[in-house]
Amino acid sequence: MLALMLAFTAFSCQQDAESIRPNIIYIMSDDHAAHAISAYEGIYKDVAPTPNIDRLAAEGALFTNTFCTNSICGPSRASILTGKYSHQNGFYKNEGGVQFDGSQLTFPKVLKEAGYTTAMVGKWHLGSEPTGFDYYKYHILSGGQGTYWNPKYNENGTEVPETGYATNFAGDFAIDWLENKRDKSKPFCLLYQFKAPHRPWEPDSIYMDLFEGIEMPYPATFNDDYSGRELTAGNTMMTIENHLTRKDLKMTPPPGLSGSELFQWERTGDKGEPFSPSDTLMGLDLKKWKYQKYIKDYLACVRSVDDNVGRLLAYLDESGLAENTIVIYTADQGFYLGDHGWYDKRFMYEESLRMPFLIRYPGNIDAGQKIQQLTLNIDFGPTLLDMAGVKIPDEMQGESFAPLLQEEDQGEWRDAVYYHYYEYPKWHQVQPHYGIRTDRYKLIHFYFDVDVWELYDLKEDPNEMTNLYDLPDNEALIENLKTKLGQLQEQYGDAISLDEMRKITSENMTQY
Ligand code: CA
Repeated sequence: MLALMLAFTAFSCQQDAESIRPNIIYIMSDDHAAHAISAYEGIYKDVAPTPNIDRLAAEGALFTNTFCTNSICGPSRASILTGKYSHQNGFYKNEGGVQFDGSQLTFPKVLKEAGYTTAMVGKWHLGSEPTGFDYYKYHILSGGQGTYWNPKYNENGTEVPETGYATNFAGDFAIDWLENKRDKSKPFCLLYQFKAPHRPWEPDSIYMDLFEGIEMPYPATFNDDYSGRELTAGNTMMTIENHLTRKDLKMTPPPGLSGSELFQWERTGDKGEPFSPSDTLMGLDLKKWKYQKYIKDYLACVRSVDDNVGRLLAYLDESGLAENTIVIYTADQGFYLGDHGWYDKRFMYEESLRMPFLIRYPGNIDAGQKIQQLTLNIDFGPTLLDMAGVKIPDEMQGESFAPLLQEEDQGEWRDAVYYHYYEYPKWHQVQPHYGIRTDRYKLIHFYFDVDVWELYDLKEDPNEMTNLYDLPDNEALIENLKTKLGQLQEQYGDAISLDEMRKITSENMTQY
């Protein structure tokens, strides 16, 4: 594979090599946790399989330790595009943050410069107008979040309303661009980005009753009591038990409410206000009822995503494009599916830190590989540029992990990853924190208005239920991890004071 990479690099400047340059289809959903993809063998693999996404792993490679650098939508997207951490690309947070600075270098821009035709369809959610694309059509309602039903799009500067279901539109737009709109004389890079399965988890009408009569399994940490983590994990506003609204749970309002009363009624619940669908349902039974509704809607949204990945793969087969096209499936971060009693993301704990990452490139990536090395979202751009034979700009902080896909001679690779999350207290009251994860250990510092360190042994405690930081005999390990953490902060340019970090959280930057 490395030899092939070098070959691509050598050929990239020559006209006659155009035909061998790979096409790229980068598929990204929103909030799709790896453990909701059956190739990752989570608890839903039999009841809610994802055969089309899984096909990429069967015919290519599955990455089991791909992580985001800041587990929230806009920041992760900005990091993916630029190959840089939030503190380098300026997009720290959704709430109170800035628009994405679209004048920055991004991997689609570099590909375009190198002769690719580029497009992006579906969810963008970075505030500013997309740059570096020949074609785009992205969600503009709800501040760029988009809507599941009857979405409105910006198509190269023109507002276009549609009537129907957003996940299917993303598939339509992707195939339409590939078939009818692109410049077929050039290799292409398409970013195919779903709004689903983001909150408010609204399934397609054909899948409303997909899991009727089934009791979904519960994650092992569903009833986490947060002992030893009271100020951090124990102090959020993202619990299944107390922070889902009636609207989230698709409850039917009583008749006769005025517009403002309906608004109020539907939004009740995310601040711990008590409500129940019946007089008798309460306590753990009520929590389980909420979880069942939540997870079934989430997984039904995933079903439509999987269908539309299948449509795209079928199109590639039929059109003869499959052989020379790299296809990736990922999500902007992970998500809690009742794990630790939560929905949402943000924490550096495993379920929201991990991103799904599957890649297929027939004839170039051996089928059925599992890659366990520690990879990051800032590596995606450099990896794709490398595979396209395009020079990786020096300013990108990520590294190409293409060499990991060759089975022999993998050489040196990083042994730890760095993370930093900022947004607080909106939404969900997750304390800002930074930390380091190695293949076995995780050390986190929550620093905003608490001062809490947490240490986990992922081998002995994969669910991160026991904070080892204050337990005896861990001093040497902690010292070692803190040294590595400091080195990573230096390396990535994030060795600033806690006060400077706090200011990034508390400052209301230019809002969009
Ligand atoms: Ca997201």
